[in-house]
Amino acid sequence: MSGTVVVVGSANVDLVVDVPRHPAGGETILGGDLRRTPGGKGANQAVAAARAGGADTTFVGALGRDESAELLLTSLGAARVRTDTVDRIDAPTGTALITVSPDGENAIVVAPGANSHVRVGAAQARRIAAADVVLAQLEIPLDTVIAAARERRDGALFVLNAAPSRELPEALWEQVDVLVVNEHEAADLAGPGSGAATPEDLAAALLARVPAVVVTLGAAGSLVARRGGEPVRVPAAVVAAVDTTGAGDTYCGVLAAALAQSGPAGLARAARLAGAAGALAVTRPGAQDAVPHAADVVALAE
Ligand code: ADP
Repeated sequence: MSGTVVVVGSANVDLVVDVPRHPAGGETILGGDLRRTPGGKGANQAVAAARAGGADTTFVGALGRDESAELLLTSLGAARVRTDTVDRIDAPTGTALITVSPDGENAIVVAPGANSHVRVGAAQARRIAAADVVLAQLEIPLDTVIAAARERRDGALFVLNAAPSRELPEALWEQVDVLVVNEHEAADLAGPGSGAATPEDLAAALLARVPAVVVTLGAAGSLVARRGGEPVRVPAAVVAAVDTTGAGDTYCGVLAAALAQSGPAGLARAARLAGAAGALAVTRPGAQDAVPHAADVVALAE
């Protein structure tokens, strides 16, 4: 039996070039061949929830009427993500311009395009109301994120991946059932005044705002904390990392898929599955292209 997940968020085409170093202002540099791959936090997380998490998954987003939109719809479709709630609009599909230096560091510019117009209309609201978990990030308008959270049924979970970092309005804080952040985002949200240094401190500070927090820690795994309980460290599998793009998105999608089956009591197990999926994702290049299959995730997590 699979749970039902609705992912509300961005879809981008990633235009990626390897460069000997990142160019300075006013400088032109020759890079390697251009790669054009499907990405965007929302679409990545939807692909992960479906392919790696095995959930019945719907994506709520917005695409243009261009070739980039077709590339994204093909990728979402290949993962069996439902896309009938994706608006097609007269704006360019979101695009990320990414240069990658030999040490693996990315420099990224995002042109949001259609992502600035993601909305929750009647069709999207109906699908959200039928979901076990609603998952969102912060690459689309905050009003849309809040509207999506409010449409969920009683007992359904709202999981917020607060990335990229931005300040959250009270109306959004109060909706969150599970907050997923990396260490940088956790520190930004906790604020400099929190004095929090360790992931445990950061999680404790954030538990003042939300009932459950997951802090992802890259190769060190993740930390799961719930109000009234002890925080739990979930170590990562040791893998040969080739490209960390999309690890966090794969983690979020699989966490949502697992929570859709288990409810909030299954948070620690969900984090183990999500961590296994994130570890497998870093062994392959790309974002959506690197998302593993559910059987491999389960095998690594056990
Ligand atoms: P983000 O990309 O959002 O900063 P992280 O780098 O923390 O996210 O990665 C998300 C999750 O993916 C981690 O919590 C971990 O479980 C897994 N992961 C990421 N990098 C590695 C790695 N090098 N080895 C094993 N697991 C990893």
